[in-house]
Amino acid sequence: MHVLVTGAAGFIGSNLCDHLLAAGHRVTALDNFDSFYDPAIKHANIRQAQVHPAYRLVTGDIRDAACLDDLFAHSPIDTVVHLAARAGVRPSIEDPLLYEDVNVRGTMVLLEAMRRAGVGRMLFASSSSVYGNNPKVPFSETDSVDNPISPYAATKKAGELICHTWHKLHGFQIACLRFFTVFGPRQRPEMAIHSFVHKVEHGQELTLYGDGTSRRDYTFIADIVQGIDRVLSTEFGYDIVNLGESQTTSLAELIREIEVATGKSAKIRWMPNQPGDVDQTWADLEHARKTYGYTPTTRVPQGLREFVRWYRSR
Ligand code: NAD
Repeated sequence: MHVLVTGAAGFIGSNLCDHLLAAGHRVTALDNFDSFYDPAIKHANIRQAQVHPAYRLVTGDIRDAACLDDLFAHSPIDTVVHLAARAGVRPSIEDPLLYEDVNVRGTMVLLEAMRRAGVGRMLFASSSSVYGNNPKVPFSETDSVDNPISPYAATKKAGELICHTWHKLHGFQIACLRFFTVFGPRQRPEMAIHSFVHKVEHGQELTLYGDGTSRRDYTFIADIVQGIDRVLSTEFGYDIVNLGESQTTSLAELIREIEVATGKSAKIRWMPNQPGDVDQTWADLEHARKTYGYTPTTRVPQGLREFVRWYRSR
């Protein structure tokens, strides 16, 4: 299979590309190396992939139709894994129009380029944030997602609707994958686990929001990559699939686990909850398991040990 991965130099994208290459696929990698975090980190993420003969890097923007037309003209792509986006809840409140431009318009520009090129199969990176403060747990794909509480979540929900439209209008096969807080080697530096471990390792104070009871379904990167791989190798029309661990960890428990994994104690300053943050996430995985054979295996303590090992090895 020849896969176009957008956002290929980022956390999830670079791990996915390494996996696809190891599995014998061809990969065209598209990334604009934006400045959301240090682009040098993204260049380091793809160093290993870049020497692989089946890997081609295109430095460009998903909003640049001419760049996409040129890319599709030179690469016989079978499937697009569309990960490129502005990620993160809090920064989306600061700059909502940028999130709309990249995540919503960018997705449409890409879908239109695919239509022109006759490429009709896509996996779209959606997010557990579309569930907002869903009172029912675990979160199921059939639950209402009409109440997002951040611009980021709204752009991901919009992306799902746009994908559905291209499925209906143009017969595209599209699976929207709702990732639940992903962690592991190469995790974005501003994300909770990475920034917490960094601070604990350096004896710095952690600023934590709420009272420690908020809960997240943390998903290890190898499980997310396995889930993407399973969906890639299955037929679908239009689908929405939760990819999580189906285990929730409170913020207070997470900090204790980080203390165990690092062997160091955390200095904490508690602050009031921040707007946009949901109280809990928890994935119902029945659909992912039954339809795609998705079987996540890495629990948080083990994933944290692997993360700390990677963090210290850099
Ligand atoms: P990331 O920021 O590490 O990766 C995104 C990549 O996209 C970056 O390398 C960036 O340079 C690139 N990019 C951004 N705008 C672009 C544009 N206009 N054109 C081309 N490339 C562009 O983020 P990540 O954590 O790897 O997330 C990947 C995807 O998964 C995103 O769509 C994100 O919203 C989604 N997601 C992530 C998580 C998570 O926990 N990490 C959870 C839910 C959903």
